[in-house]
Amino acid sequence: MSDDMHEVYAIRYAEHARMRSENYIFGDPHDEMTSIAYYVWVIKGAHGSFVVDTGFDEKAAKERGRKIIHSVGEGLTALGLKPDKVDHVIATHMHWDHAGNYDLFPNARYHLQDTEMAYCTGRCMCHQTLRIPFSEDDVHAMVRKVYSYRVDFHDGSEELAPGITVHKIGGHSKGLQCVRVKTQRGYVVLASDCCHLYSHIDEGRVFPITYSVGDTLEGYKTLLKLATSRRHLVPGHDPEVLKIYPAAGSNLENWIARLDVEPKSASS
Ligand SMILES: [Zn+2]
Ligand SMILES: [Zn+2]
Repeated sequence: MSDDMHEVYAIRYAEHARMRSENYIFGDPHDEMTSIAYYVWVIKGAHGSFVVDTGFDEKAAKERGRKIIHSVGEGLTALGLKPDKVDHVIATHMHWDHAGNYDLFPNARYHLQDTEMAYCTGRCMCHQTLRIPFSEDDVHAMVRKVYSYRVDFHDGSEELAPGITVHKIGGHSKGLQCVRVKTQRGYVVLASDCCHLYSHIDEGRVFPITYSVGDTLEGYKTLLKLATSRRHLVPGHDPEVLKIYPAAGSNLENWIARLDVEPKSASS
């Protein structure tokens, strides 16, 4: 494999049952229960290991009424990756379900957009409505990393290693970024919360927690430009991801999926 091509994995560590209407601004006509999945992602290649987002731990799960299935550390270990050997963490944004477990990667450098750090430590956090998806502890931990010289800030689009770029999208959180990875099947885009579910991008709908509806909708267009095709876009919370991508190993069904190979279903 050439040194700009990477393997990509999605690790589902938790899930949450909720009404379908809770996933969309303006609700949903189907009055039924659904579930959303919580993932972190791993990029492996010649330039070290990159973990995209750090998930949440048991304490945060209890506080927010979520259920952890396998901890983030267990998932990484199942992929043969020791957390203390992880070189880079890409923080797509600072929401509690993406920025917890902040002591799990003692030797990693963190990659974050300027705008996200300014947002989660600035005047917008004086508003309860905007503060809800943030955990004060996670934000403090990131400030400590800044003061320990462990954070690389990015502004817009930047290459972290050959074949791995980050792109500021905003919308759902002001400095939210996605990750584009060159793989054997083309450019895969890890959308994180730039697109929570396939239905958001396919139907032009928006998740209720949103800094800017306009930037979210424009962001969908950017995601589709960055990905080789719609089949290369990986939403941040869709349980379908585990169904359409093959498991990364025989004992990893319904837990860890491989994203640098074609999805099973032609519909996605
Ligand atoms: Zn989020
Ligand atoms: Zn999220």
